[in-house]
Amino acid sequence: MTTQSLPSTTRSEALFARAKAVTPGGVNSPVRAFKSVGGTPRFIREAHGAYLTDVDGNRLLDYIGSWGPMILGHDHLAVREAVAAALTRGTSFGAPSEGEVRLAETVTRLTGVDRVRFVNSGTEATMSALRLARGFTGRKYIVKFRGNYHGHADGLLVEAGSGLMTNTEGTLGQAAPSSAGVPEEYARLTLVSEYNDPAALDVLLAERGHEIAAVIFEPVVGNAGVLIPTPEFLAALHRVRDRGALLIVDEVMTGFRLSLRGATGLLGLTPDLTCWGKIIGGGLPVGAYGGRADVMDFVSPQGPVYQAGTLSGNPLAMAAGLATLEVLEGDPGIYTRLEAYTAELAAGLKAAAQRAGVPLSVNQIGSMLTAFHQDAPEGAIRTYTDAARSDTRAFAAWFQQMLAQGVCWAPSQFESIFVSAAHTGAELNATLDAAHTAYAYLGG
Ligand code: PLP
Repeated sequence: MTTQSLPSTTRSEALFARAKAVTPGGVNSPVRAFKSVGGTPRFIREAHGAYLTDVDGNRLLDYIGSWGPMILGHDHLAVREAVAAALTRGTSFGAPSEGEVRLAETVTRLTGVDRVRFVNSGTEATMSALRLARGFTGRKYIVKFRGNYHGHADGLLVEAGSGLMTNTEGTLGQAAPSSAGVPEEYARLTLVSEYNDPAALDVLLAERGHEIAAVIFEPVVGNAGVLIPTPEFLAALHRVRDRGALLIVDEVMTGFRLSLRGATGLLGLTPDLTCWGKIIGGGLPVGAYGGRADVMDFVSPQGPVYQAGTLSGNPLAMAAGLATLEVLEGDPGIYTRLEAYTAELAAGLKAAAQRAGVPLSVNQIGSMLTAFHQDAPEGAIRTYTDAARSDTRAFAAWFQQMLAQGVCWAPSQFESIFVSAAHTGAELNATLDAAHTAYAYLGG
């Protein structure tokens, strides 16, 4: 079976060629380059509601949502008006302003943390939270989980293949850097355990617990595709505190997405520190970390842990974040609607794949979803190793079929897609029609 004629991408191709001459790989963040699915990334001219328009004039139904921030859809009126109003007052002061206080008050009230510090990205949030945890505990080691992504700070660009769970020195949990340029000495301070494996975490804590400053984790993983934590794993995570380590929940992706209290609220977590990004900035560059007063008061100038930022608390970003949180808080049905759409999408994708005889296993929670191209029972994909069994070539072919029909899915098998409040029944139907055609193509 073939699909309709391909849309023109001449201008995107020309821009990509120019970009490659002046920017590594032609992009400012790797996954945008379409390397794992092939083809030319679309260069976007503008975005409104649930749709992107590329420079060739193609209208694309967007499931990337700028990788999470655009929960209200693109160019939401309240956010646009808040940014426009802030713009008339100046773009950066390098001094405190009321917007920072208002956003901090809103975040602390909604999430229950005592104090919050704003930074400029999720990477800065996790990096700063780890420095704080080390400063507070006086310990060096941190624990992360395989397949969890916490931004690109050196000590967090570490993952473990299963053979690396015990390294050559026989040291439990130690792993190799996953990027060139990360010294082994840094990586050595990061211990890696398997997500959703409480026994492995217990063993690691029993052996190394006294040296561990913090355990950082994605409460629902988005960065290996969606992985949902088991209650047993969450219980094991909370035991890290018995060892004097801090529990850091990385809500950069899930914060204000899975509920107004994020995954923390949804799953009943009690972390010591929380990291945010994405939605908290309403589409402008913002991150944040926060938590208990006694820990947060270790941050300078109150305490001895240094952390700063020229543009931190930027007035435009504070306005966009505040407007976004106000809309979310003012619409009590919004999370139910997002969940309902995404659950219907999950069911529709599974049905379409099944009709075409294409193996598919969908993990979905709230407005996050990954359709893994593999024959696993419902809910059985729980770890990075499970996710990695997916047929990435089948995914790439499916992705291209969807794109040709004007549906822009995340360009990697190992990412979540993000549904926004601008996605309605019309978008759902269009997506499932396209998916039906795409699976039929795959099923031959
Ligand atoms: N933490 C998580 C869970 C993320 O998903 C990301 C980015 O996708 C980050 C941290 C890093 O955030 P940023 O890209 O804003 O640096």
